[in-house]
Formats: sequence, structure tokens, C-alpha cells
Amino acid sequence: MMHCPFCKSPAHTRSSRYLSEKVKQGYYQCTNIVCSASFRAMTAVDKIIQSPALADLSDDEFIVCESGKIKKQRFH
Ligand SMILES: [Zn+2]
Repeated sequence: MMHCPFCKSPAHTRSSRYLSEKVKQGYYQCTNIVCSASFRAMTAVDKIIQSPALADLSDDEFIVCESGKIKKQRFH
């Protein structure tokens, strides 16, 4: 969710696509019916706070299965 650059009301994502693994481009529409502006914005990963765990758990069937579920949920 972003704020409208004109009236500062919340704007909803209408559609989005990944330009790369770290950059997402989205189309937004203002929820303020009087304004109704639509615009495009970019979201980018610009800093990694915590890298993934280094432990190799790729031979653990349960963990591999669970991490697959998490990845699917994040791409909604
Ligand atoms: Zn607006």
C-alpha cells in the first residue's frame, strides 16, 4: 500500500510485476473517490538486515517442504 502523491489518501495496488528479484513495479489507484488518481511506483530491496541462515538443511525433507510453502505465500 502507498499513499496517493496528490491527496495523501491510501492507494490500492491494481497490479504489479517483478522487474528483477529485488525490484517490483506496481500500478496504484487512489481510494479517495474525489481524487481517483492512478500512478505507477517502484519497490526495491535496498538493504539486507539479516541474511538467511548458513546451515545446509537441504537434506531435511520436512524443512524443504515447509520452506517451499513460505516461498509460495510470500509471492501472493
Ligand atoms: Zn488521491
